[in-house]
Amino acid sequence: GRTAPLLAVEDLQAWYGHSHVLQGLSILVQPGEIVTLAGRNGAGKTTTLKAIMGLVARRAGRVSFAGEDILPLPPDSRFHRGLAYVPEERRIVPGLTVEENLRLGILASRHQREEARRIEAIAETFPRLKQRLKQEAITMSGGEQQMLAIARALMAEPTMVLLDEPSEGIMPVLVEEMFEQFVAMKRSGTTILLVEQNVELALEVSDRVYIVDGGAVVHHAPAAELRADPEIQARYCAV
Ligand code: ATP
Repeated sequence: GRTAPLLAVEDLQAWYGHSHVLQGLSILVQPGEIVTLAGRNGAGKTTTLKAIMGLVARRAGRVSFAGEDILPLPPDSRFHRGLAYVPEERRIVPGLTVEENLRLGILASRHQREEARRIEAIAETFPRLKQRLKQEAITMSGGEQQMLAIARALMAEPTMVLLDEPSEGIMPVLVEEMFEQFVAMKRSGTTILLVEQNVELALEVSDRVYIVDGGAVVHHAPAAELRADPEIQARYCAV
C-alpha cells in the first residue's frame, strides 16, 4: 500500500486583497521525497509556500502535515512541528558570523541543547561553510549566503524544508553544489518542497514535479517523465 503523505495540500485558496491568487491548488508530498513546483513567473509558487507556512493572511482549503491539519496554526507552531521555510530573500544577519547565524536557527527550537552537535553535522554537509564559520556572513558571496540560509533552517532538524528559488542569482558552480546538497539532505531523511526556475537542474534531483499555472496545478508527473517531455517543459516552464 501507499504510505501516508507527509504534506497534503487540498484545494488551497489564497488572496492578496481582492486578488484571488491560489485557486484550488492540491499537492501531495511523501516522506523522503524531493518535489518541485515549477511554472512561469506569477504562477503562484511562492504564494503556495507562504500559504503552507501560514504567511498569507487570507487563505482557505486544507493543509495537513504529518497527519495534522495545520492551516489554522500560526507559522511558529508549524516550525515547532518540523516544517522549515527558506524564503527567496536570504535574511542572513549581516553583523554576525556564519556560526552565529547558524546558532540563530536553533534558538527557538526543541534542539537548543544540541547546538554544538548540530553545527558539526551542518559543517560536514556544507564544507564551504565549515571553512568560514568565523567569517562575517555578509562578506560571503550570494551563493554562500544562500547555503547559509538553508543550513540555518536545517539547524532545527526539520522533517521538511520549503525552499523558494534557492538558485536565484547564484553562480552555476555553486548552484550545482547546492543541488548536490539537496540530494544529501534527502539521503539523511529530510523531505524537500522546492520552487525552482532552473527546471533542468530541478528535474535531476526531484522525484516528482507539479506544474503550477494561474494558481492551480495544471500538470504533475514523475521527474523522469518530464525530463523526456520537452514539449511540456516549453509550454509551462518558460519564463
Ligand atoms: P515568481 O517566480 O515570479 O515569484 P510565483 O509563481 O512565485 O512567481 P507568486 O509570487 O506566488 O508567483 O505570485 C502570484 C501572484 O500574486 C502574482 O500575480 C503576484 O503579482 C501576486 N502577488 C504576490 N505577492 C503579492 C502581494 N504581497 N500583494 C499583492 N499581490 C501579490
